[in-house]
Amino acid sequence: MTQNAVTQANIDQLRTAQIAPQKMLIGSDWRSSQSEAVMEVISPIDGAAFTSIASGSKADVDAAVAAARSSFERGVWRNMPPMARKAVLLKWADLIEADTLALTVLGVRDNGTEIGMAEKAEAGSAIRTIRFYAEAIDKIYGEVAPTPGSHLGMILREPVGVVAAIVPWNFPLMIGAWKLAPALAVGNSVVLKPAETASLSLLRIAALALEAGLPEGVLNVVTGTGDVVGDALSASMDVDILTFTGSGAVGGLIMQNAGRSNRKACYLELGGKSPNLVFADAGDMEAAADATIGGIFRNAGQVCVAGSRLMVEQSVKADFIGLLNDRLAGFRTGDPLQLETQAGAINNAGQLARIAQHVDDAASQGADILTGGHQMLAESGGYYYAPTILDKVDRDSSIFQSEVFGPVLSVTTFEDEAEAVALANGTDYGLAAAIFTRDLSRAHRMVREIKAGVVHVNCYGGPDITVPLSGMKQSGNGSDKSLHALDKFTDLKTAWIAL
Ligand code: NAD
Repeated sequence: MTQNAVTQANIDQLRTAQIAPQKMLIGSDWRSSQSEAVMEVISPIDGAAFTSIASGSKADVDAAVAAARSSFERGVWRNMPPMARKAVLLKWADLIEADTLALTVLGVRDNGTEIGMAEKAEAGSAIRTIRFYAEAIDKIYGEVAPTPGSHLGMILREPVGVVAAIVPWNFPLMIGAWKLAPALAVGNSVVLKPAETASLSLLRIAALALEAGLPEGVLNVVTGTGDVVGDALSASMDVDILTFTGSGAVGGLIMQNAGRSNRKACYLELGGKSPNLVFADAGDMEAAADATIGGIFRNAGQVCVAGSRLMVEQSVKADFIGLLNDRLAGFRTGDPLQLETQAGAINNAGQLARIAQHVDDAASQGADILTGGHQMLAESGGYYYAPTILDKVDRDSSIFQSEVFGPVLSVTTFEDEAEAVALANGTDYGLAAAIFTRDLSRAHRMVREIKAGVVHVNCYGGPDITVPLSGMKQSGNGSDKSLHALDKFTDLKTAWIAL
């Protein structure tokens, strides 16, 4: 075992390491906010402050956008041969890989994700994503149009310019890399705004990007609150496009700011209330139960694609709920820095209170709390909520319609395929779904009928970087991941040449 391996002994050595107060990256400088304001970083593990981040102001955003614009206009990065940009990005991924242990522990202290998942889904995912786009970028060609002999029509792809990226607290490295890697690979300059409760690991990989040779001003990171830093970025007259992952409410504010300022394109990856449909012909019910538990309770449900609405065919409901309860009997929620923990902390105290309110509202609207329904481990000072199953959930109730973003599974039954489709599509969201069935024709029919960006069949979770994540309905627009993500970070240009 190397010193860098994510083992319990190595984790324990780092769990209380001193972390210096963090500055922001603007150009090649690490700076305090021009207002001098800072925010405490509170660990959801124990509710204690362990460092601080700079609380950026509008002046800091303007400075970061100016640094990004200046680097883009100088062209050092965008005019670098694609193979040379690739080399810098691959070195960046290597540096992140070498730093996996420290980076993962730091991220978990900040956002509360259980470390077994964080290792794979955070540093591991960021490394794979950066390598994917680095490897792609010298293999993507322009097009020549089928013109008459009098003209040559060439279709060129160019970087859009200054990209603003605003990301949420869950999976900051994974989601951050989904935006940074394709945006940087094609030659843009970026201003990144992490969530105020999950900034540390993104600041750390920004430092590694400089070490890998990313030129000054190509990546800038402004930390702080959404209503100051995020607001200023979305209202900026000099940001060309904005890519956002977060809640629908904030997505709406961003679109308003874009409309009032320079009409920048906004790509929004928003929330979900994803249906998980278990048919009586699912076959391996044990596997379906395992997938259902993982689909809603990993990262304590703070997953945009979480399978939060279980819909089970009436004839197998009782047995299936029994299988879920068996699994929850041994389910470990708790200290996210323990390798055996299956669900870590809720990211912040406000979110913990919102989860409790959702469950109280569901109970008052007639749902039965089958298991959970309460806070856990309050004596730790941290934020933990028990895995919760709510039965008899009506399709008009708030718990059926609203994203909880916590470990709460609602259960509804259906009698046939038509009712299953109606229930699955019966919310404003369209992010993810799952179907468990052994009937191939049924599986294909359901994939077509369910309005969601990703439809899993006989599994939950795991789509890799080769496929897109696209929200339908109020879950957003555009795509993260896959080569399709490059579309939003490039403009198409036509060259029409008389011959
Ligand atoms: P949030 O919308 O509260 O915050 C997201 C980011 O927006 C943060 O960086 C925040 O500081 C910033 N922000 C807040 N107010 C702002 C404003 N007025 N202007 C601009 N920016 C502002 O979301 P969250 O609570 O951090 O994350 C949870 C949400 O994210 C859930 O709805 C979840 O489903 C969604 N999410 C979606 C995906 C996806 O790929 N579709 C992935 C992960 C999370």
